[in-house]
Amino acid sequence: DVCVLGSFMKDLVASAERRPLPGETLHGTGFAEFLGGKGVNQAIAAARMGARTAIVGTIGDDRYGEEFLELLKTDGVDTGWVVRHPELGTGVGLPLVLPDGSNSIIIVSRANAAITPDDIEAAGEVLTGSRVLSVQLELPVEASRAALRLASTAGVTTVLTPAPVGPVDPSLAEFVDILVPNEVEAAALTGLDCDDSQVAVIARKLADEWDLRGCVVTLGSRGAFVLDRSAELEVRVPAYKVATVDTVGAGDAFCGSLAASLAEGAGLADAVRLANAAGALSTTVDGAAASAPDRAAALALLDA
Ligand code: ADP
Repeated sequence: DVCVLGSFMKDLVASAERRPLPGETLHGTGFAEFLGGKGVNQAIAAARMGARTAIVGTIGDDRYGEEFLELLKTDGVDTGWVVRHPELGTGVGLPLVLPDGSNSIIIVSRANAAITPDDIEAAGEVLTGSRVLSVQLELPVEASRAALRLASTAGVTTVLTPAPVGPVDPSLAEFVDILVPNEVEAAALTGLDCDDSQVAVIARKLADEWDLRGCVVTLGSRGAFVLDRSAELEVRVPAYKVATVDTVGAGDAFCGSLAASLAEGAGLADAVRLANAAGALSTTVDGAAASAPDRAAALALLDA
């Protein structure tokens, strides 16, 4: 079983020819809404891989919160541990996308920022009763640390995606078994360039500094690098060649799928092979949460 602690973000995406000037009201050229947040994306990815999955996090007592509960239920994710904040609304992201595909994003964490160690305590049963706990860095660090500590002490395998990129509180390290940075995060965490010649050095450096069981560096269209210290194994896994349309959420599809395989007892390298297929397939579909593939599709790519 997989438990994901993480964020809920409703994205309201505007497209425009350019950014508005200060004081200007600009007509946009398009609008779309998506349900996302790294926590939700990873939980859906894990559930679609066939894992019994629960999510822990905080939403508002509002319409967006309802939309999340419905979406998660459709994919069979247990939402019984989600806290509804009575005053703060559900988190929102407001991206502005320009014609060249570049974007500027405002995010307002709202209820996500209100999760406390007490909320984590209240979810102790699911945090300690799962086989794998997956955490990212979109929630307050006190809550993330409390969850990692509880799970790790109970012998649950803990996986941390150090995203979004930024400084990581060193007190998290002792409770993390497997770290899964992308290349930008890997470079930021070590101060080294994450090119092909350096990725093994980076993974070993992180594994030493964090005292990890394993480190997986995701490399976008170049695949992933796995260091599994418990199996004394280092493997470079090349990416699948697919018809990519939107890479947003690839990392979340990868991590959710990785957590699902680990929960089944797969070794890290095998879990990465399936995650690599799931990540690739997620880039063939628009959106983030909705783009994670199901198990059959990922297995079909794996065997192709
Ligand atoms: P993030 O979304 O966090 O930036 P990455 O870009 O490293 O993470 O993508 C995560 C994983 O998704 C990669 O390790 C790979 O398995 C898969 N992936 C991402 N982009 C592509 C792509 N263009 N083609 C095939 N697989 C991809």
